[in-house]
Amino acid sequence: MARLRKELTSQAPLTPALTSWAEALGDAIGRGMLRALNTGMPGMGAPVASPGNGAVMAGRRRGRPPKTVAGGPVPMDRRCTVNGCTREQRSKGLCSAHYQAERRRQIATGKPA
Ligand SMILES: [Zn+2]
Repeated sequence: MARLRKELTSQAPLTPALTSWAEALGDAIGRGMLRALNTGMPGMGAPVASPGNGAVMAGRRRGRPPKTVAGGPVPMDRRCTVNGCTREQRSKGLCSAHYQAERRRQIATGKPA
């Protein structure tokens, strides 16, 4: 979004009216995409976006996928070192939950990390 705004400002200054229009348009597109997803009909409600790009966007989640879904069972050498914990290590041999618990304990006892 920031990139788009930068390109627009290089061509013509954005007036408050234009900005609100753009926000309304983005809102309408968002609602249209949501409606298309809910009804399951491709190509509905998003005349601005190209059909191919829209289909790809609708089918994929953005950002890093959840570890539990993407990784399956975590290999033994990458598991948390706490007994009975099967989560993946994040730091110092601990999963995120146990690492945070350890950090809180260290902070509470005044021990340096
Ligand atoms: Zn753990």
